[in-house]
Amino acid sequence: MGSKSPCLTGYLPESSGLYLHVPFCRSKCPYCDFYSVTSMKEAREWVHCLKREAECYRGFFQTFDTLYLGGGTPSLLNRAQLSEIFSLLHASFTFVPSPEISLEANPDDITQEKLAVCRELGINRISLGVQSFREGELRFLGRRHTAAGAERALEKIRGAGFDNVSVDLMYGLPGQSMSQWLFSLKRALDFQPEHLSCYELTVEEGTAMGRLKAQNRLKLPDEETGRRFFLTTSRFLEKRGYIHYEISNFARSEALISRHNSKYWKHVDYLGIGPGAHSFFQGKRWWNVRSLQHYRALMSQGKLPLEGEECLTEDQLLLETLYFGFRTKRGINLRLLEGAPHMESCAAELEESGLALRRDGRLIPTRRGFLLAESLPLRMVR
Ligand code: SF4
Repeated sequence: MGSKSPCLTGYLPESSGLYLHVPFCRSKCPYCDFYSVTSMKEAREWVHCLKREAECYRGFFQTFDTLYLGGGTPSLLNRAQLSEIFSLLHASFTFVPSPEISLEANPDDITQEKLAVCRELGINRISLGVQSFREGELRFLGRRHTAAGAERALEKIRGAGFDNVSVDLMYGLPGQSMSQWLFSLKRALDFQPEHLSCYELTVEEGTAMGRLKAQNRLKLPDEETGRRFFLTTSRFLEKRGYIHYEISNFARSEALISRHNSKYWKHVDYLGIGPGAHSFFQGKRWWNVRSLQHYRALMSQGKLPLEGEECLTEDQLLLETLYFGFRTKRGINLRLLEGAPHMESCAAELEESGLALRRDGRLIPTRRGFLLAESLPLRMVR
């Protein structure tokens, strides 16, 4: 187990986060790199394995104040499956009163009945994967819903009384103009989402789009275009009152910042269960196998379904703290720079070039600083 300095990680005595990976999708989007299978025939077994996995961690984490059902497509789960999952989680884990409970959903799965089940179970935040309000873009992205379907889903979610809704959108599609992107963004704002995640389309190796790209059959916008989309999005949403609190994430107020995802960026402990899920506990990180079959096989042998683990050294923790810090408006604690003249002078350079500013004892990236978030940590350590 690596040692951990509270100053280094910015660790707060915060409750842990619980992530549950739902490895099912109705169809596979050609850009997506998340682990999922397109058949639900193993769902029953998966739930049994989750129960066993949850039992293995009983008592390991004290309390959870967030639960995130991600995937995959958690909204594919039916009432019986969702109820069983919540029962097994409550049997093994302790939650604080009023935890943030998020469910990722596909617009096509949103029905009044499903929303009623969600509310009964305490789900209080819906993250809707819309991606675009333009039909041609949705088809390009291989999404199974239509723009009208996404609009109906948002209306139903509001109608069911959810007051914490996040909308996922994607920019930087081949040939997409700024006005086409702003069309989707404005349409999303018509529903006044409490939170927005705006991602640039990135194509990973091993995906259907990755193969097209390797064959030169898919041309993505160049870096400069990506920067323009990013800066325009940030200015546009900040002007409308959103806080640009992480490279891709915007919230209507501090209270609406994703409590769960913030744990990843603050090195707060979290447990992930299900195939492909990652966990972090006091400087140690581990991750599960990315195969439902393998996950089931290991669980049935009474083993944890681990693919790998690492204990972070002080140096790795420092680099990650800088990396996560520069991704968020929280920035990094200036105490990190004490006694490190090289880091101090880098911070001064970042300030002079308008990439960061000092506030409340922290070094905070500016909008332009966000664009360089990946490379800033490497500039600071040597
Ligand atoms: S983007 Fe979402 S719905 Fe599409 S394959 Fe990935 S996890 Fe499934």
